[in-house]
Amino acid sequence: VSVRSGARVSMPGMMDTVLNLGLNDETVVGLGQLDKLERFAWDSYRRFLTMYSNVVMGMNVSLLEIELEDLKAAKGYELDTELSTADLKALTEKYKKQIQLSTGKSFPTDAYEQLWGSISAVFRSWNSPRALTYRELNSYPNDWGTAVNVQAMVFGNRGDDCATGVAFTRNPSTGEKKFFGEFLVNAQGEDVVAGLRTPHAVSKEDSKGNGGSLEELMPSAYAELVSIYQKLEKHYRDMQDIEFTIESGKLWMLQTRNGKRTAKAALRIACEMIDEKLISETEALMRISAQSLDQLLHPTLDTNSEKTILTKGLPASPGGATGGIVFSSEDAVKANESGQKSILVRIETSPEDIEGMIKANGVLTTRGGMTSHAAVVARGMGKCCVAGAGDIDIDYNKRELRVKGYLLKQGDTITLDGSTGEVYLGEVKTIEPELDEYFHRIMKVADSTRRLSVRTNADTPQDAEAARRFGAEGIGLCRTEHMFFGADRIDVMRRMILAENREERLAALSDLLPMQRSDFAGLFQAMKGLPVTIRLLDPPLHEFLPHTDDECEELAKRIEVPLEKLKLKVRSLHEFNPMLGHRGCRLGITYPEVYRMQVRAIAEAAVAVNKEGLAVEPEIMVPLVATAGEIQILREHILSEVREVESELKVKIKCTIGTMIELPRAALKAADIAEHADFFSFGTNDLTQTVLGLSRDDSGRFLGTYVSQGIFAQDPFQSLDQAGVGELVAMAVKSAKSVKPSMKLGVCGEHGGDPDSIKFFDSIGLNYVSCSPYRVPIARLAAAQAKIQNAEKMST
Ligand code: PEP
Ligand code: MG
Repeated sequence: VSVRSGARVSMPGMMDTVLNLGLNDETVVGLGQLDKLERFAWDSYRRFLTMYSNVVMGMNVSLLEIELEDLKAAKGYELDTELSTADLKALTEKYKKQIQLSTGKSFPTDAYEQLWGSISAVFRSWNSPRALTYRELNSYPNDWGTAVNVQAMVFGNRGDDCATGVAFTRNPSTGEKKFFGEFLVNAQGEDVVAGLRTPHAVSKEDSKGNGGSLEELMPSAYAELVSIYQKLEKHYRDMQDIEFTIESGKLWMLQTRNGKRTAKAALRIACEMIDEKLISETEALMRISAQSLDQLLHPTLDTNSEKTILTKGLPASPGGATGGIVFSSEDAVKANESGQKSILVRIETSPEDIEGMIKANGVLTTRGGMTSHAAVVARGMGKCCVAGAGDIDIDYNKRELRVKGYLLKQGDTITLDGSTGEVYLGEVKTIEPELDEYFHRIMKVADSTRRLSVRTNADTPQDAEAARRFGAEGIGLCRTEHMFFGADRIDVMRRMILAENREERLAALSDLLPMQRSDFAGLFQAMKGLPVTIRLLDPPLHEFLPHTDDECEELAKRIEVPLEKLKLKVRSLHEFNPMLGHRGCRLGITYPEVYRMQVRAIAEAAVAVNKEGLAVEPEIMVPLVATAGEIQILREHILSEVREVESELKVKIKCTIGTMIELPRAALKAADIAEHADFFSFGTNDLTQTVLGLSRDDSGRFLGTYVSQGIFAQDPFQSLDQAGVGELVAMAVKSAKSVKPSMKLGVCGEHGGDPDSIKFFDSIGLNYVSCSPYRVPIARLAAAQAKIQNAEKMST
């Protein structure tokens, strides 16, 4: 018999299998006599010894492979199939001795002992590291568990009228409706999977006329295989991954599964199955993993090329990127100027690094999680980023890093896979994305199905345009602080921060005003009249100041401020807990002139753009509100500035004023806050941070352990903690609606682009989600799936 795993979804190659079970020194003789196929019997026994000792007894099979290779070398054989019966008999004796030697146990001869050993091993393999990793990658819960199948063997290794193979009913990488498979004559399943011998194409067309296809060698078995695969696909109404064996000319089906496929293939298969009337449009939408669309939107690594893995961090921003290592923003800029691709490697990134992040091909950090600065910014830019790769030790002084025994210096080439978090040595080839007709068709179906609007988080006209191309219906969050990080802005911003008094501050602000005005005009133009939510300044001011002595000295010279004064200011702005410090609307309360400058820039830009024929109604948003008092005061400031602009320019300006709900108190007191706000946008990054008391920048270090121990099903910064944070959001939605039933409610934290979280946001009645440009298509599809699933739940 064979003992095989049987999880509810296919996890190819992740769990163990034992074949040829039941053979021992006695039964091997019986099997050989059965059809006078002695060689076949001993070949099966050899295979069983190898598999069982590895899977059940935990032995390193390379010890047995050495015996096999030595024997083949001594006899001058190239292939296993050249081994004679006598060779195989000798080999099994050697194997048994080697097993005894390295495991300290003799090979079990009792078939029941073999059976229970194998059943336990297959169950155990559910928790093998690779199965765990695979489930983590695909968000399959660990508590699903697996079945174990004990199946009668059919043998593909009984001679040249036998074969075994694997096939897909359609092409799993392109989706083309063409049977695609590989097989080996006189072989067992693992020969195909492990690549011990090069398999041949099943169909004549794919075999390129070498005469070795199954279609040509075993035409009647092939014809039967074709009729069976068509039947299976019709029955399951999905592309199947099938395993088959041909024993003495007779075809046996071992297994059929819904086949794994690339996102590109999934879209094509779904569209063509709608046309073939196999599935409905709703089914087609539900078939495609929204998350997998990521693969289509960024350059991706060529999976067929060879790779050496260095380490793994968090898959912070998808795509593939290759370049020489640089350790500073300046070096990334320099590399770019000299036409070289670079990967910016930092312990963590700060606003100072923004230029480097833009110029680098990819970003790698050793600290920080999915909502860390690097991750958020990189995703916003569609830049490949791996964050929190804690195994890497960086020495900035020597410009080198150490990871798992490798020493890499500035300029050495590495490659990032932002979709898996993997970091590779050297260059790995990438492929450019292309959005095809199938993508656009599925998106159209999704758009006509969903209830939630999909907006984007964008701070530049380029991001906004990219997002609109991906189908964004507005900007849900423009983080204005990002506008001050540019090389031409940051020093003006610093002058504003270093101002001794209100007059000095106003002078610096008046320099910032035209810059902001043109920023906002650019955004409004890029969005062509779609809604734009602009958030007033949020981060603590010290984030804009330099930190090291050298940097202070340079800046002091550049902006002509005494060094001591600068250092004193840096020290005075230092906070022990900046995330809970002088940031968000607290800045607006203490320095209203900063917020008023921004409001003026927004209002003036809207007036200017409206003159060009667009009807812009800016949505001004206040961050980090905890109390009704804060929004009440700031609303007055905003309105009075807008009125000033109106009377100066003699126009009416339509705008709305809303607030982020990103602190627990704001969620609890949503009804009070709603009295002073036209809309709410849930900032689930800060809300997760404050509800769970987890630092969004530091928790990457231990969240992995929390997820692997099942304390969190997923990283709560990636997928909303629905039971905790979610309950608070749902409560706030209810209270807000009790005061203003038709209030516009959205979410702009990273969760706005996460399919599971989107399902939740749909169920509690939010109006829109907002996510980074490159997640917009994912959110469009996920919102359609959410609507379908939530409607199904309601009807049951
Ligand atoms: C949030 O906190 O969820 C949010 C969107 O704001 P930021 O990430 O800029 O703090
Ligand atoms: Mg926030």
